Amino acid sequence: MTKDELTKWFLCDDKIMLSVAKTTTLVNKAIKVHGLTCTTGAVLGRALTMSALMGAKLKNPSDNITAIITGDGPVGRIVTVARYGGVVKGYLDVPEVDLMPNDKGKIDVGGAVGKGKLRVISDYSMTKPYIGEVELVTGEIAEDFAMYYANSLQQPCAIGLGVLMKDTKALSGAGFLVEVMPDAMDNDIEEIENVTKQLSDISTIMKDISTVDFVNQYFGHLMPKLYEQSEPKFKCDCSMARVKKVLKSLPAEDRESIYNENGEIEVKCDFCNKTRLVSREDIE
Ligand SMILES: [Zn+2]
Repeated sequence: MTKDELTKWFLCDDKIMLSVAKTTTLVNKAIKVHGLTCTTGAVLGRALTMSALMGAKLKNPSDNITAIITGDGPVGRIVTVARYGGVVKGYLDVPEVDLMPNDKGKIDVGGAVGKGKLRVISDYSMTKPYIGEVELVTGEIAEDFAMYYANSLQQPCAIGLGVLMKDTKALSGAGFLVEVMPDAMDNDIEEIENVTKQLSDISTIMKDISTVDFVNQYFGHLMPKLYEQSEPKFKCDCSMARVKKVLKSLPAEDRESIYNENGEIEVKCDFCNKTRLVSREDIE
């Protein structure tokens, strides 16, 4: 198995940007942390792969991008956060959901997510967070984020996301994001459309090849220039210090009401499932 990586490229004389991610290890870590099924592994795996692709543009250690998918499907809410350096975390409300394949014989991600909204909060240091929201298109995640790019960011793009599952193991997680600059030529855009049409099964295509081989194979005729390479990771940034800070910020009477019989507060992190016990002395 080739290792997780994210590479960024210019195509067509720098008028089109391409980001490609291999996320198999990252997705398997999320599956293990959250006890995901075949279905929820694919759902959260796609969302985390998108998070890694979006996070690749962050320039400062305090920058982050949060995406919240609120659908009416059985998995409930899906939350992902991308941080500087290709680090992502995420969870969904109901990790046990496991659905039958859809009528195309594929994992029913759209059925698991349902209808609803996608909200993206881009928090870049120094500026006010930018919040964009769109209706979900299919709940299949890639189309929903493409709608966000087109409607909220006014950025034409093509997105592919996929997780190839065998039971509760990801055999391949992968994704790509093509962003078209305003000065891109029409025939280049047409050619990108022709290529991305062949990439509907991205997790199978990329299963045994690196992102570099993938780009050379499918985009080689569009003058690809590699300009950045990193390793995306699933990792939480919670800590005892942060938990204490949050508890300290609560009004004293609210805090009093959540102490258990041992005078401790139990705090569970949704993103990594870690539970911490904080004593009264720790806080005061
Ligand atoms: Zn955590």
